[in-house]
Amino acid sequence: MRQSKLFTKTRREAPKDEVSKNAQLLIRAGYVHKEMAGVYDLLPLGLRTFNKVVGIIREEMNKIGGTELHLSALQDSETWKKTDRWDDEKVDSWFKTSLKTGTELGLGFTHEEPITALMRDHISSYKDLPAYPYQFQTKFRNETRAKSGLMRTREFVMKDLYSFSKNEAEHQKFYDACADAYERVFERVGLGDKTYKTFASGGSFSKYSHEFQTISAAGEDTIYVSRDRKIAVNKEVYNDEVLADLGLSKSDLAEETSIEVGNIFGLGTRFSEALGLAYKDDSGSDIPVFMGSYGIGPARLMATVAELLSDDKGLVWPEEVAPFRVHLVSLANGNDDVVTEADELYRELTEAGVEVLYDDRDARAGEKFADSDLLGLPLRLVVSEKTLAAGKFECVERASGTTQHKSLSELIGMLTTR
Ligand code: ATP
Ligand code: MG
Repeated sequence: MRQSKLFTKTRREAPKDEVSKNAQLLIRAGYVHKEMAGVYDLLPLGLRTFNKVVGIIREEMNKIGGTELHLSALQDSETWKKTDRWDDEKVDSWFKTSLKTGTELGLGFTHEEPITALMRDHISSYKDLPAYPYQFQTKFRNETRAKSGLMRTREFVMKDLYSFSKNEAEHQKFYDACADAYERVFERVGLGDKTYKTFASGGSFSKYSHEFQTISAAGEDTIYVSRDRKIAVNKEVYNDEVLADLGLSKSDLAEETSIEVGNIFGLGTRFSEALGLAYKDDSGSDIPVFMGSYGIGPARLMATVAELLSDDKGLVWPEEVAPFRVHLVSLANGNDDVVTEADELYRELTEAGVEVLYDDRDARAGEKFADSDLLGLPLRLVVSEKTLAAGKFECVERASGTTQHKSLSELIGMLTTR
């Protein structure tokens, strides 16, 4: 993409009312626009990064047998009354609306109820199980606090997967596979070393659920981390009994503030019993389906990366989630040969399949470099009178600041082999 075609502008200052670092950076770099507290729009660069995160999650969910679908946001209150989650006293985050006839509808804050009801049309026999539908779908939550930028918004896309299994053993196998898939997701987005599988409260069915918590002062959760065992315990279940159960002692654990980037939860038969989702086993008896739910918020994940991997100059994207891999910056300064050379490099790289943002704007070097630092693409290539004379392009790694000089063929080689 040519930057002259990118309508978004960078800005020196974030809006005064924006207190979170992730949103400040993403707004300043022109990745997102703030509509109001807890509500953000994704601009072209932000959408590209968001889609990269979504792509990684999709790949990992498909690898463990997930099948993608898409449910509606509008919800029928009758379904939710059956599980006792319609009442505002029970669930305080509902956004509700109504039809012109007066019939009340809800905007889904999660999808256990509708997906369980839907699966009744498709599951009747043990031969139909297991099943692992998932979606990337918009949730609405009337969150009380919305001060964490894109980490906590009132409208957000969630990857939610639901597992439908014959029994607890089959459920547990998938649950563990999904935990491993989550570890791969967090590794790929660059948060692997700071993200801990965390024991949290299990609700009615299981002893524990698991959260994936990324250590950050910007988080809203408190966890106790065992660095040796690469696990943690959420404050809500941090007590002597749980520590003994997990073979942990207080002296091994460090208290940390963290961001919940993902969550996996065994549901047992709570929803299948309430909504009548059962299968016939081989003797013909009706057995309620055993369920689990598995969530990740791609925008919260993107915000966490922005928050943790940035520096004082701006964003620093890992390769897999950067909107473009290369930022090609031409410093033509009225020299047509530089323009020709930069155009040619842009064409060659694009043809070689490399994703390039080409700063072809007529602007001062200082402004271009400051913007480039703020945008945070992994590799900056500079074309100028100086590089033209040297016969090599200047390549600067955003994360380390390491500078190298490479010819076109060396560059293509470096960017197309792995
Ligand atoms: P939290 O405890 O942070 O409120 P939760 O436990 O309510 O989150 P889940 O309902 O399990 O979250 O949602 C699954 C995932 O969706 C979370 O792990 C997080 O990544 C993401 N998520 C939840 N709430 C929000 C939100 N308000 N904005 C953005 N992402 C969210
Ligand atoms: Mg939670």
